[in-house]
Amino acid sequence: MRFSKAFIPTTKEAPSDAVLASHIYLTRAGFVAQVASGLYNYLPLGKRVLKKIEAIINDEMERADAQEVELSFVTPAELWQESGRIEKFGKELLRLRDRKENLFVLGPTHEEMMVNLVRNRVTSYKQLPLNLYQIKTKFRDEARPRFGLMRAREFVMKDGYSFHATAEDLDREFDAMEAAYKRILERLGLDFRIVEADSGAIGGSGSKELMVIADSGEDTIAVCDSCEYGANIEAAHRRVISSAPSEPSLANEKVHTPDVRTINDLADFFKIDPHYTLKAVAKRAIYEESDEIVIFYLRGSDELQEVKAVNAVAALELVDVTEEELEAVGLVPGFIGPFGQNDITSVFDSGLKGATAMITGANERDYHMSGADLSALDGVTFADLYEVKEGDGCPHCDGSLTYTKGIEVGHIFKLGTTYSKALKAEFLNDQGRAEPFEMGTYGMGVSRLVAAVIEQHHDEKGCRWTKATAPYQVNIMVSNIKDEAQLELGETLYSRLKESGVEVIIDDRKERFGFKMKDAELIGLPYTIIIGKELKNGKIQIFDRATLEKSDVQVEEAFETVMGLLK
Ligand code: ATP
Ligand code: MG
Repeated sequence: MRFSKAFIPTTKEAPSDAVLASHIYLTRAGFVAQVASGLYNYLPLGKRVLKKIEAIINDEMERADAQEVELSFVTPAELWQESGRIEKFGKELLRLRDRKENLFVLGPTHEEMMVNLVRNRVTSYKQLPLNLYQIKTKFRDEARPRFGLMRAREFVMKDGYSFHATAEDLDREFDAMEAAYKRILERLGLDFRIVEADSGAIGGSGSKELMVIADSGEDTIAVCDSCEYGANIEAAHRRVISSAPSEPSLANEKVHTPDVRTINDLADFFKIDPHYTLKAVAKRAIYEESDEIVIFYLRGSDELQEVKAVNAVAALELVDVTEEELEAVGLVPGFIGPFGQNDITSVFDSGLKGATAMITGANERDYHMSGADLSALDGVTFADLYEVKEGDGCPHCDGSLTYTKGIEVGHIFKLGTTYSKALKAEFLNDQGRAEPFEMGTYGMGVSRLVAAVIEQHHDEKGCRWTKATAPYQVNIMVSNIKDEAQLELGETLYSRLKESGVEVIIDDRKERFGFKMKDAELIGLPYTIIIGKELKNGKIQIFDRATLEKSDVQVEEAFETVMGLLK
């Protein structure tokens, strides 16, 4: 490609709302252009990067025997009613009616569509297993589209779905897909971690996320400092504490505690470790057709993990409540406790099983209970509610957990029979009995990956593409196109590299050297051959974008040197 003919509208202006490097540089360097909130056009350079990533995905899917299909983007609303997700997805679904008033949804993910494709076509265990995928535009009317390609409304996803006769066979395929996803990210040149995750609105188990490590990531992940364990904080566990602070010996009684409301005040007042205080977190749980106030109990030394809490009560979401709302249902804000209080849904963190010597609210203004034994409570619901903290023990080894930030670029999980049951998709097993398919789902954010590469590979000058993702590998910079010798060498190298299959662009624009160099840094191709004044002395320079180093090379060796670098 010739720069003089290319559509690469670089600019000094960053989008006014841009905070992330990828958003700023992909726009400034002319890879993408925003159309409206969360909607982007891909310009030639951006489209090339997308295609590179897609090619690697396709290659690894072929190797894993997954087959590519392409399903309709406009999907019938009836399918979403059959699965019950029309409500669950809520406003994220963009609905539209055709001229006959039929209701449709722009596909935000394609479980229903894929099950619909397979049901009644795959009817026997002999046709299983089957793994179908597509690379396709998705639409989610995100509440807060932001960060450029990272959280768009229209985006490109690789979504794959597998169908099996048995849960064991699903396990096998899940492991194969995890391995394939790992290879894809390795080939893209990314530093990443595969972590345990929550299954989210889609439902299922064995959920894992692929996280590209970056400070700008929206997800917090807890990773072990000595083994492979890593988990999204929404699903992270810790080793059961073996050395709990020593148990205080306080009588089981009601104690007057004026103005003592916070956990710290309480620990100070009783001179105990917060481990022995009972924290009550009240929230309003929103369900499909109702809502209620729920109390989550944890040790005072722990914080509530909201996603775990949502899962514990199977709510759509949890929202904060005011003191007035609590009082309206007979609760005493600051003094809520589990004793003598049965009509409000309560969930206890599983770490509270058998807890003794606890300080709890007494459900009376200015009073707490001391020395409480929680095993005296009847019919208690326990669930995993705590959020792991940095320094907590790893659940698998002697190491400890630290936090890092990650960008979720992929999510794989076992759906089991959730969708096949809901959509009545069955096959005949080897005994001739009808059974629902066991299913797995494997998503990868293709356009989000474009942004993730830049989040991990940029500097203050611009993009620094990895070899596997760069739209072109080599830029040939003819410093002064009026200099015939420079232009001639540029053209010769351009032809030779192209003939050798190298993706190369020649900067043959009538611009100043400094201007072209700024563009080269901003666009961030791995290597730039600089043909300048030193040509008189038989020398050119090779600029390495990753290290910002320029090295002198003899003209005769230019071609071989570049070919060597690209190996
Ligand atoms: P997130 O938690 O970031 O909202 P999700 O859990 O909703 O993502 P999935 O339903 O698992 O996402 O979709 C599979 C993949 O699609 C994600 O791992 C992510 O890489 C990508 N993806 C999801 N939403 C968006 C979006 N709004 N813009 C770009 N990519 C997205
Ligand atoms: Mg996810």
